[in-house]
Amino acid sequence: MAIERKSKQRDAIINELCSRYDHPTAMELYLSVREVIPNLSLGTLYRNLSQLEENGMVLRIPDGSTDRFDGNAHPHVHFKCSICGKVYDLMSFKNDSITFSDEIIGKVNNYSLMAFGECKHCNQIN
Ligand SMILES: [Zn+2]
Ligand SMILES: [Zn+2]
Repeated sequence: MAIERKSKQRDAIINELCSRYDHPTAMELYLSVREVIPNLSLGTLYRNLSQLEENGMVLRIPDGSTDRFDGNAHPHVHFKCSICGKVYDLMSFKNDSITFSDEIIGKVNNYSLMAFGECKHCNQIN
């Protein structure tokens, strides 16, 4: 019974993360998942996110004082708007090796890059 409830919470978290592309913080995710699982605690959410990250199912994006989460666990480059703070997917890589100055340094299993600028919505206002 306890295990059943656990996987239900985990499924709800993964479903929510995979259905959105705005790289929510744990708190934003918590508010959305609570609409499906009203008795979800913040501690449970954090525990599930850590487990999902360890299993390679979600990506944790360090974003200053808080972390953001991504249901797309394939390595890809993020773009952060310095005005609204939104994090977008900038580009994805298909190769699993990366080249620096004509020299392959090894097999890259994961990497995280962040580009900074103003997104097209904010850029129009200024
Ligand atoms: Zn913006
Ligand atoms: Zn992303």
